[in-house]
Amino acid sequence: MAAPTLPEFRNEPFIDFSQPANRQAMEEALRKVRSEFGREYQLRIAGEWIATGDKLVSVNPSSAREVVGVHHRATPELASRAVERAWAAFPEWSRTPAEDRIRMLAEAARILRARKLEFDAWLVYEAGKTWPEAEADVSEAIDFCEYYAREMARLAGPQKVCQLPGEHDEMIYIPLGVGVVIPPWNFPLAILAGMTAAALVTGNTAIVKPSSETPTIAAKFAEVLLEAGFPESCFTLLTGSGALVGDVLVEHPKTRFIAFTGSRDVGLRINELAAKRQPGQIWIKRVVAEMGGKDAIIVDGDADVDQAVDGVLASAYGYQGQKCSACSRAIVDAKVYGQFLEKMAAKAKAMTVGPADDPGNYMGPVISEGARRTILEYIETGKKEGRLVAGGGAPSGPGAGSGYFIQPAIIADVEPTARIFREEIFGPVLAVTKARNFEHALELANDSEYGLTGAVFSNDPEHLRQARERFHVGNLYFNRKCTGAMVGVHPFGGFNMSGTDSKAGGPDYLLLFLQAKSVATKVG
Ligand code: NAD
Repeated sequence: MAAPTLPEFRNEPFIDFSQPANRQAMEEALRKVRSEFGREYQLRIAGEWIATGDKLVSVNPSSAREVVGVHHRATPELASRAVERAWAAFPEWSRTPAEDRIRMLAEAARILRARKLEFDAWLVYEAGKTWPEAEADVSEAIDFCEYYAREMARLAGPQKVCQLPGEHDEMIYIPLGVGVVIPPWNFPLAILAGMTAAALVTGNTAIVKPSSETPTIAAKFAEVLLEAGFPESCFTLLTGSGALVGDVLVEHPKTRFIAFTGSRDVGLRINELAAKRQPGQIWIKRVVAEMGGKDAIIVDGDADVDQAVDGVLASAYGYQGQKCSACSRAIVDAKVYGQFLEKMAAKAKAMTVGPADDPGNYMGPVISEGARRTILEYIETGKKEGRLVAGGGAPSGPGAGSGYFIQPAIIADVEPTARIFREEIFGPVLAVTKARNFEHALELANDSEYGLTGAVFSNDPEHLRQARERFHVGNLYFNRKCTGAMVGVHPFGGFNMSGTDSKAGGPDYLLLFLQAKSVATKVG
């Protein structure tokens, strides 16, 4: 069969929930998904369904007494078996024509689009995303499938090399082998789908180990892949404790690459383990590791303060600050510092926090009780390191119930030596630091081991030029928020301890899942 002709890539439009018909349809989807709460899902190792009996219960963070799904945890032996099965399936899958894999991925995008509101609803209930945040996550997952399908079409074709007289010279891209895909919970569909799609469309077999916080969304995506025609042997969905099965997957001698997105410490551990050659291993494992952030927004002395406040608010508190791209440091020129703080505090205090399925709430819960405790501890630290000017407590209003809610916090007058200036908190906590001038602001912004996203609000072209050159982050934005990277538009990935800068959703990404082979044929 010929490759499908795909139209030019365009980002998936977001559903507008201000339209009554869309609101109604979303409410219907929420009801439908709710009716599936508590269902049991088995492990699926290369087509074989397995119940280990060691149950992993995933709950609704807006109301933790509600069980969203029940899953079976894999054992280390099963993790090892999964790699062996993926290895056995690799020869056949890697020889499947690229056009067939591309067609399957485009079909996965079509199915996701058809089930969009249903997936939105799963994200609301299992990840605690508000409607618009869930919609952005599902749209991004569709974008990844569509974008990587087109990228594979480009890479499957002939690559440009010079021709030596008397030879026909070619370079082709071939897959690597067995990949281990380890996504985080905070984009439980988009990142999981993106890394899995990249691994599979390039002809690798994959073991996908979802986060224990969001296994149901992963199980639903596995359904989509199967329905789209991906053979059941080409991927495994291996639910289980990262600590328990992670090392086995990473260290296995037949694992060829690991695509990880998550925290700095887990990423570094994976990188270290993967670097050690195991008995029988005949390659150097490739590690793609996208990790944490401590992202800063600079507000310049001549900036439009209202615009900056809105940008910082959206970046700091969208999805409760649980984005790797979230703004957790506002670095504000002394000229506008007082005005900025006052406006920020007023708006943060007015923010509605409550169950994510209620579209009246701007913020939902944080992911777990453990996360809530850690974030509240950071706020206590912050009160000693700076001045709490808004939020920080747990709301007690109607609907608070057994949800993991935290009021958006602002801590002012934070010094660069403070823990809340340096450490990733991953919650709705913003540290605000005063800068003497723009040069000082740039210095403060770069004073971090991370380098993921950043933004500058300024009307001074020379300051923006300096930031373009010296603000050391993988994704830099001017006069807009530092979250919301779009596939194909803002290839995403960070510097330094933020990871390997793989630039997901960009033209370089699929190359990380491929190796190039040069073929020269003597002619004449
Ligand atoms: P995490 O590191 O705790 O977990 C990520 C994944 O690794 C999960 O699936 C987990 O089960 C697994 N894991 C845990 N221990 C493991 C081990 N020893 N071996 C193998 N796998 C193991 O991160 P998280 O809490 O799920 O996600 C939040 C983090 O992810 C934040 O630091 C955030 O900044 C980062 N993140 C980064 C990006 C990016 O593109 N740079 C995007 C999203 C999230």
